[in-house]
Amino acid sequence: MDTYECRACHRSAGRLVLDLGEQPACDYFPAAGDPGPDPVYPLQMWLCSSCGLAQLRADPTVPEEPRGAESAALVEQAAQAVEQVALAGLLPARGVVTEYGSPHGGSWLGMLAGRGLVPSPDGGQADVIVDCFGLMHAADQRAALAERAARMAPGAVLLLQYHALGTILRQRQWNALRHGHFAYFSTAALASMLADAGLSPRTAWRFSLYGGTVLLAATRAGEGGPDAEVLSLLDEDARADVRDPEAFADLQRCVDSHANSLRDWLIRERSAGREVLGYGAASRAVALLCRARADRTLLPAVADASPAKHGLRMPGTDIPVAPPAALAERRPTSVLLFVPDLLAEVRRAYPGVESAGGRWVDAESLGSARLQQDA
Ligand SMILES: [Zn+2]
Repeated sequence: MDTYECRACHRSAGRLVLDLGEQPACDYFPAAGDPGPDPVYPLQMWLCSSCGLAQLRADPTVPEEPRGAESAALVEQAAQAVEQVALAGLLPARGVVTEYGSPHGGSWLGMLAGRGLVPSPDGGQADVIVDCFGLMHAADQRAALAERAARMAPGAVLLLQYHALGTILRQRQWNALRHGHFAYFSTAALASMLADAGLSPRTAWRFSLYGGTVLLAATRAGEGGPDAEVLSLLDEDARADVRDPEAFADLQRCVDSHANSLRDWLIRERSAGREVLGYGAASRAVALLCRARADRTLLPAVADASPAKHGLRMPGTDIPVAPPAALAERRPTSVLLFVPDLLAEVRRAYPGVESAGGRWVDAESLGSARLQQDA
């Protein structure tokens, strides 16, 4: 019997709550001509019984993801977030800021510089510590949070932004689970981790990004306690049973129903002679396409704005990643959008899809009744 230790509290009691089987590394896009097969690794989520952190069970892969194009949705949300934090009076008029960024981009430093905050020298203390989707990439969660806490000057604020576990459960976003993302935070689990690091949540803001993203502000434990918004998030987590393995059962059930709905739809479209292209060579598309056993006969290409991904193919499949020009050249009947947050901007950027009679289809909701009626 192998033992596993929680990435945050280092205790061993817990359960596997989501198992996607053997999956290719979603952060390694092989060259389009690479015949594969790509190596596969277990992809599993484990829920700690002690601190409640949902986490990646094992990660044998090395992150090699080509840098994606930063979405307008992400940039717009960052601007709103900085505005909200400033309105709450949590940004000092002058001071030092440090940022633990995400490898996927989205720095706040430029916006904060515009508000008089200067970046700290490497390793120095700071008045504002920004962590925008950064912490989830740390394999050792306890060490990573302790490092951030150690850099907080007296009175400093730590701003932690995360895709909420409650969202993943409520919207059944099973394909949010990916190699390289070690933690899936509930506010409840994060509050426990913060307490261990000598910190306390103070206030929070919610954003619609990824279906439900939280920005949590924390300070040293002696400097104040949680406000009504934090208490409301904790209450929602309690009602959603985010610490109960049973609350994840629907997430697991949804894996096959979602993937099979996608496969059935792709087969129907092909049989009817209607071409489908994908858009957004995102990590969450990888497990979905693999579980759906999709190949280029069903989905001839996935278009993506990031030049770094052109000439590559989707991991675990033979589906190439193409420049967005493919949308205009092939005039598909449907474009399967793997990143629903991009809908407004892709409709603006590629109006030709709809003017040629095509439509955008949300890959995340393909299992829903709405699209089944539509098809
Ligand atoms: Zn734990």
